[in-house]
Amino acid sequence: STWANVPQGPPAILGITEAFKADSFQEKINLGVGAYRDDKGKPYVLPSVKTAEKKVVESNLDKEYAGITGVPAFTKAAAVLAYGSGSNAIKNDRIAITQSISGTGALRIGGEFLARFYPSSKKIFIPTPSWANHNAVFKDSGLEVVKYRYYNKNTIGLDFDGMVEDLKAAPEGSIVLLHACAHNPTGIDPSREQWKQISDVMKEKKHYPFFDMAYQGFASGDTEGDAFPVRLFQSEGHQFCLAQSFAKNMGLYGERVGAFSICCESAEEKKRVDSQLKILVRPLYSNPPVHGARIASEILNNPELNQQWLKEVKGMAERIISMRALLKENLEALGSKHDWSHITSQIGMFAYTGLKPEQMDQLAKEHSVYATKDGRISVAGITTGNVKRLAEAIHKVTS
Ligand code: PMP
Repeated sequence: STWANVPQGPPAILGITEAFKADSFQEKINLGVGAYRDDKGKPYVLPSVKTAEKKVVESNLDKEYAGITGVPAFTKAAAVLAYGSGSNAIKNDRIAITQSISGTGALRIGGEFLARFYPSSKKIFIPTPSWANHNAVFKDSGLEVVKYRYYNKNTIGLDFDGMVEDLKAAPEGSIVLLHACAHNPTGIDPSREQWKQISDVMKEKKHYPFFDMAYQGFASGDTEGDAFPVRLFQSEGHQFCLAQSFAKNMGLYGERVGAFSICCESAEEKKRVDSQLKILVRPLYSNPPVHGARIASEILNNPELNQQWLKEVKGMAERIISMRALLKENLEALGSKHDWSHITSQIGMFAYTGLKPEQMDQLAKEHSVYATKDGRISVAGITTGNVKRLAEAIHKVTS
């Protein structure tokens, strides 16, 4: 047959969801999905999104194509959200930006653009570990993926010295992917002081920063604070690029709303870069979908809705932070001898528990608790209703 030579691929991350679905135990817990859940364990459509969507529908817009780079009111506001309202780069019209198919699409456009035009290197350095898809996205873009140290398994914290050493050892002018906030999968971010040092090393080595900001607002509940690294690099005069996703902070997962931008040196350079972004996107998908971008645009541009949205983002971040505390408390109350302080010091949607693959297997088989083998659990899947049973299960497999 035509496809006789197509080998069976390995199951993707969704394997966890299948196993979870197949489990008939009533109190099973799914901590594999990277999507927010409310305290009842249900998907959450933000009220601000519902209102914005209603406004979009009521405004009776046509369904004509957007331009290649998407809905301008959306991308303009997305840039302000990331770079700041006082952004020098925005003021000087130095930012080339295009709407993208969420964060993944933004990373892919970035990868393709760099593979095509970045002058000094085809290597992109990503942290160990990193979001599992980074490797595939950049490899398929034609870049060579190299790793830098990030996680220290002994401290369940940041291997800052290892990271800096690797950035220093990388060939001058390498591309370096940085998680702007709420590092996935570890939940471990550099401190502000460490970001300053990273910025200095990057400058010294003339490396090119590629920020992936998939969780702005989700880490601390504050969209401004979470953008600190991006704004620091901007004020330090770096040229860099940025992938933004609105999947998590607006809960727009399936609407696929994102943006890719390049912070250029001048308005003239921006114009040339922008023309090439269009040439690159056109044969990929011509132009992006409009509905989700219109919703996001409404939320970002309508001051009242924007205030409401910021409160809702904070609410999601706070629920996650309180579930971290509750999980740690429950483990301690059970008499666990382990130090679980990393559960509360990490931020964002995920906790990197430090549990080993065998223990994760045991969690699934004996306790119907499902998550990835690397020990990452989605804190968004923890609720006041399941945290006690979860702590008991974790305690059992770790004592
Ligand atoms: N980057 C990181 C670090 C992520 O965790 C994710 C989502 N899991 C993404 C990018 C992209 O997500 P999306 O394409 O849904 O915006």
